[in-house]
Amino acid sequence: MISKTTITPTARLVEVFSAIQGEGLNVGTRQIFIRFALCDLRCHFCDSANTWNAPATCRIERSPGSRDFEIYSNPVPLPILIEFVERQNLPCLHDSISLTGGEPLLHAPFLRQFLPQIRATTGLPIYLETGGHRPEQLAMILPYLDSVGMDLKLPSVSGESHWQEHTKFLQLCHESHLNFFVKIIVSHQTDPVELERSALLVAAVSQDVPVFLQPVTPLAASEQFTPIPVLAPSPEQVLMWQALMKRFVKQVRVIPQTHKMLNQL
Ligand code: SF4
Repeated sequence: MISKTTITPTARLVEVFSAIQGEGLNVGTRQIFIRFALCDLRCHFCDSANTWNAPATCRIERSPGSRDFEIYSNPVPLPILIEFVERQNLPCLHDSISLTGGEPLLHAPFLRQFLPQIRATTGLPIYLETGGHRPEQLAMILPYLDSVGMDLKLPSVSGESHWQEHTKFLQLCHESHLNFFVKIIVSHQTDPVELERSALLVAAVSQDVPVFLQPVTPLAASEQFTPIPVLAPSPEQVLMWQALMKRFVKQVRVIPQTHKMLNQL
């Protein structure tokens, strides 16, 4: 008789913790954050460059919001990650689980197995934060998601260009049952032509997709990896760009990273 061996799926993580969501449509809600390691982009404004390579260890909060981290080895087996999340899941505390990174979709095969189990265990909705450039991987886990925040990367600000992938990604979200929105980081260097192109791209899917313009949070000199400093836009620029985009899409909100105002992670 041939015996079957099952391999336990594993994921490379940076951290698991509980905090208030500071961006986009879920701003102000309490989430359990699972921050996955690895990212295939190199955005000039990245404030999570520690995720680009998989670390040997990850840090896991013992009790929600207390920042009493314990260190564990990577990669983390699926049942252990469920335990880490369950440890955070006190009654009535959290609104949802946030998959963040890095780029969580680089872990799509793992997520396809993990998400149905964590939904069943916690009963919490699942929210994905993503660079919006991997539609094939999104399709793999779409049935297990409740909401998606898709970054639309402006070449003039991020140094990345993924127009076609963003279009496919948004179409997939629109064809599903999901709540989704688009987030665009803007800096003093934003090219308005790219903002108009973004608005047209979103409007081609639906004029009702909420768009969040997020003024960049300037990085400390030690955190920056590009020679040109990424600076916040002026109030006049932001007002002008919101008006420009509202010619094409109905909801354009300007919201900075509020978790940094609260001095959170
Ligand atoms: S997609 Fe996110 S984690 Fe990756 S480089 Fe850009 S900002 Fe950083």
